[in-house]
Amino acid sequence: MSAQLKPLVWQPTMEYASNYEKVPFKVYTQRDLDRIEPLVRLSDEQRFEMKVVSTVLPFRVNQYMIDELIDWRNIPADPIFQLTFPQRGMLKPEHFDRVATLIRDGAGKVELDAAVNEIRLELNPHPADQMEMNMPRDEAGNRLDGIQHKYRETVLFFPSQGQTCHSYCTFCFRWAQFVGDKDLRIASSEAESLHAYLQAHPEVTDLLVTGGDPMVMKAKHLAGYLEPLLRPEFDHIQTIRIGTKALTFWPHRFLGADDADDLIRLLERLVEAGKQVAVMAHYNHWKELDTEAAQAAIRRVRGTGAVIRAQGPLIAHINDDPAVWARMWKLQVKLGIVPYYMFVERDTGARHYFEVPLVRAWQIYREAMQQVSGLARTARGPSMSASPGKVEIQGVTEVAGEKVLALRFIQGRNPDWVQRPFFAKYDEQASWLNHLVPAFGEERWFWQDEYDAIRNEKVSVAKN
Ligand SMILES: *Cc1c(COP(=O)(O)O)cnc(C)c1O
Ligand code: SF4
Repeated sequence: MSAQLKPLVWQPTMEYASNYEKVPFKVYTQRDLDRIEPLVRLSDEQRFEMKVVSTVLPFRVNQYMIDELIDWRNIPADPIFQLTFPQRGMLKPEHFDRVATLIRDGAGKVELDAAVNEIRLELNPHPADQMEMNMPRDEAGNRLDGIQHKYRETVLFFPSQGQTCHSYCTFCFRWAQFVGDKDLRIASSEAESLHAYLQAHPEVTDLLVTGGDPMVMKAKHLAGYLEPLLRPEFDHIQTIRIGTKALTFWPHRFLGADDADDLIRLLERLVEAGKQVAVMAHYNHWKELDTEAAQAAIRRVRGTGAVIRAQGPLIAHINDDPAVWARMWKLQVKLGIVPYYMFVERDTGARHYFEVPLVRAWQIYREAMQQVSGLARTARGPSMSASPGKVEIQGVTEVAGEKVLALRFIQGRNPDWVQRPFFAKYDEQASWLNHLVPAFGEERWFWQDEYDAIRNEKVSVAKN
């Protein structure tokens, strides 16, 4: 591009001196449960239950969520209340009773922590073999903390300052990162190792910065990771994706926050320099898009030239209803957001409470799709992020007289698996890939042998 069309030194085209309202960020955790004003309408027993559950599972909610997103006339059924506040059923009865008894008996910290740790380890803190199979190593065989590289084109990066969120989702599969156990965390403060890794991997086109939520970081920290990517040695990194729920949990991050203008300028600068910036926004319900602040933040982010793509899991008690998805996708399209993925809830944490069987998930997806225009049919799913890859349920059908589930890989550890249809025996209860068996009496999946070989190799390296 010629110099006239593209200045070599980026200059701000606009001085913002932000005129957005400065709303203070106020957050509550387990210790503050008794200070959350609308909870006074609950019974003592209900508040105690919340305390028990949040001893095991992370809890964090901010004032914006309390004031603007939860409909307090409709608790406990309100979907945003279910999204953020602990509910008794999220712990299995034996786990609940164990912790409740300890708290009632005034157990000491050491005893309580030991019980809580045991329970957490039973909740599959690192689903889909993340620890053993996605963490790359350098030539010396050292694990590169904070980097995951599972699919050829896309590297995931977990900046250490971004390992929290403005609120927590009760169903979060990253929950192990928030509960303070160092061994359970996946993080890095090493911009250098990220940049060295990307430079050494010209096949990578996408960097996905994730967490937690990278938008909790100061703009200057985010810039420290991202601006170096504008140098010519990173030309192969075409797309910078930022995974976030801040457009829901704290839209003021993009409006009146202290460094909101810096963040907006950073996004503009990346776009101006020729990167595609994709804000991968996590949404579960149309209500999250339905406040003035949320819509103002969406407009402001889109104004930078970044594209907002929406993804989120299908969750019982929150959005297991086609009408909710149809309305959400329509509203996203109306606001200029591109629907991207509907995920199946992962096999971790409070899964027994949130899971939706695969057959039901497909019905919800299909019924929602039938209600929207083609521009909202860009959402793929329902998709399981399983260890071999992202597997989509394409539908229920009959082949040669056998009722089956048709599946395909959207992403695979081996790119050769992608887009090959395959079939599982029909099973109405199955809620994850490992519950399914191949159709037509076959012994193994077409990808099984290759997957086992990849897995054996990675796991044996991890053990050395
Ligand atoms: C989903 C995912 C990606 C990105 O996949 P796309 O289909 O390109 O969005 C990358 N890495 C991991 C580990 C993922 O789960
Ligand atoms: S926003 Fe994402 S990382 Fe944060 S709590 Fe929710 S699901 Fe977990």
